[in-house]
Amino acid sequence: MAYTGTGTGTGTPVLATTKQVKLDKESELRIEVANDTPLRLRVLSGTAEIFGSELAPEIWLTFPPRLKFAVFSWFGATIEMDGATETDYTADETPMVSYVNVHAVLDGRRNRAKASPSTDPNASQGPRVIVVGPTDSGKSTLSKMLLSWAAKQGWKPTYVDLDIGQGSITIPGSIAATPIEMPIDPLEGIPLEMPLVYFYGHTTPSQNVDLYKVLVKELAQVLERQIAGNAESRAAGMVINTMGWIEGVGYELLLHAIDTFNANVVLVLGQEKLFSMLRDVLKNKPNVDVVKLQKSGGVVSRSAKVRQKTRSYRIREYFYGIGNDLSPHSSIANFSDLSIFRVGGGPQAPKSALPIGADRVADPLRLAPVEINRDMLHLVLAVSYAQEPDQILSSNVAGFIYVTDIDMQRRKLTYLSPAAGALPSKYLIVGSLTWTET
Ligand code: ATP
Ligand code: MN
Repeated sequence: MAYTGTGTGTGTPVLATTKQVKLDKESELRIEVANDTPLRLRVLSGTAEIFGSELAPEIWLTFPPRLKFAVFSWFGATIEMDGATETDYTADETPMVSYVNVHAVLDGRRNRAKASPSTDPNASQGPRVIVVGPTDSGKSTLSKMLLSWAAKQGWKPTYVDLDIGQGSITIPGSIAATPIEMPIDPLEGIPLEMPLVYFYGHTTPSQNVDLYKVLVKELAQVLERQIAGNAESRAAGMVINTMGWIEGVGYELLLHAIDTFNANVVLVLGQEKLFSMLRDVLKNKPNVDVVKLQKSGGVVSRSAKVRQKTRSYRIREYFYGIGNDLSPHSSIANFSDLSIFRVGGGPQAPKSALPIGADRVADPLRLAPVEINRDMLHLVLAVSYAQEPDQILSSNVAGFIYVTDIDMQRRKLTYLSPAAGALPSKYLIVGSLTWTET
């Protein structure tokens, strides 16, 4: 039973669930909201923040079921909670001081970059931070904090999310970047004004490592061009969030990302081995700092099932909004008006069609047109900005649609999209990303 009710004698329980919690300086209240009821919370006195974003005094905020977060106070605060939690406890041992120290160093570098002539491309470049570590080490959380603290100081750092498994900028299966202009709202997340998004189409990079690398490179190149002409964004730098896959190919992909984005600060969370490996491999690059940081004891581990659920919620949020405040549009398209492509895989060339000695391996970057069939039901497709099929690999995407019906007789496909009106392009990309509306 989630509620701690007190009986009134009439059989109707009174929900006495409000409580106050006093936070000492540099301590945090760690909360897991109950599974099926939201939690209201406010700051009664003092100051407190959630992952780097300060809370307005006395205003009630409503946190959805299952959310896991911490309310941290630098100088002490009293918090009031109304509703049920799965757990809530205060902790005074946190790595927050070491995190904010990193922020202070980054801030110094931003100031130096800003003061440098924009004609000097190196000196005018602010820190490019990449956050790495095993799964559930707090990478996404630390990325958010660094971005929010920077934004609070007036910087507009670029957030780059390379994690196709979770997706904090857009839906899973994508990599994306967006400037952060304000501290990240703990409830609303990152505002989705025109993020730069590339669709990979799967939630694990092992499905097509080559494609993943190509898209990371495209994203980096486009950002490089945008930043070259924007001194403000250049000085503010980047925070790059990565996947928790750090072994084997995962490690190789981390090195690839560090290299491709010219990262100059590598923050390693919670793993000695990864830290020493990266330090050794990067020691001949004197301009790259590899920094080891402690994982917070508050980070909650998530099972594969929970991750799957979180992915599904992210897709739901894309179409329906975080507070269920959007209504997606249902539209019908003729098969002939759409042109759907898959990257990699697909039918292999028959051995007889290949030069002697050649391998019959499918080209991971091969673009194959896809015939629409019933199997496409419940797939999430990306709408490419490509003008021609051969631009699909190098084009970012406008957004996503969700296939809700396929009528093979009438050759019509019904889909949900976040906005009304015609799709910005007829070129769609399909991967293995599916969703079941719940
Ligand atoms: P992944 O490998 O899946 O990307 P991650 O390393 O990015 O994981 P986070 O997503 O940052 O880890 O953290 C995991 C969960 O723990 C999140 O739900 C986050 O909100 C929660 N969390 C992080 N820090 C704290 C904290 N100090 N107190 C309570 N919850 C926390
Ligand atoms: Mn993460």
